[in-house]
Amino acid sequence: MDELKSIIRDIHDFPKKGIVFKDITTLLQDAKSYHRMIDLLSHHYIGKHVDKVIGVEARGFIIGSALAYKLGAGIVLVRKPGKLPSETFSKTYALEYGTDTLEIHKDAIKPGERILIADDLLATGGTMAAVVDLVQSMGGELVDCCFMAELEFLEGRKRLPEGKVFSLLKF
Ligand code: IMP
Repeated sequence: MDELKSIIRDIHDFPKKGIVFKDITTLLQDAKSYHRMIDLLSHHYIGKHVDKVIGVEARGFIIGSALAYKLGAGIVLVRKPGKLPSETFSKTYALEYGTDTLEIHKDAIKPGERILIADDLLATGGTMAAVVDLVQSMGGELVDCCFMAELEFLEGRKRLPEGKVFSLLKF
């Protein structure tokens, strides 16, 4: 795990001054690391039935679609406003300054379907909490919230259902 962690680079003052951004593109572009990361994440869910994986725009698409393929599940996109072509449900959530909104197609999840949500990184947990809300309000059964990396000091997992959070690389 330390080897995978070391490939993720810190970018200072991105997207704004004072923030240290974890740039995961360095891991994705390295063939061995990318394969290992997807294998480790998908192994965690072997034997757990998953109907659909949700990928959260945009880096969650990369993790989510590879996981869905490995697990033999469908892939559902949760996107920023105005990007999905058919009717959507939406969820607005608070950011440090202002709000953000995510959307999902109304027919993307059927009641009782077992849903795994994937994103690249867990920070404050606001984004994932919004997606969990969407899944639960549509009657989906949450299997887990799955992340490639977690910034543990921000305690984002406290905002998510207990026992339903898995992250591979902890910072
Ligand atoms: P949260 O809502 O505060 O947990 O932020 C998580 C969302 O913001 C995820 O969709 C991440 O892609 C993105 N994010 C926040 N911080 C970082 C970072 O340091 N590196 C990569 N993505 C980040």
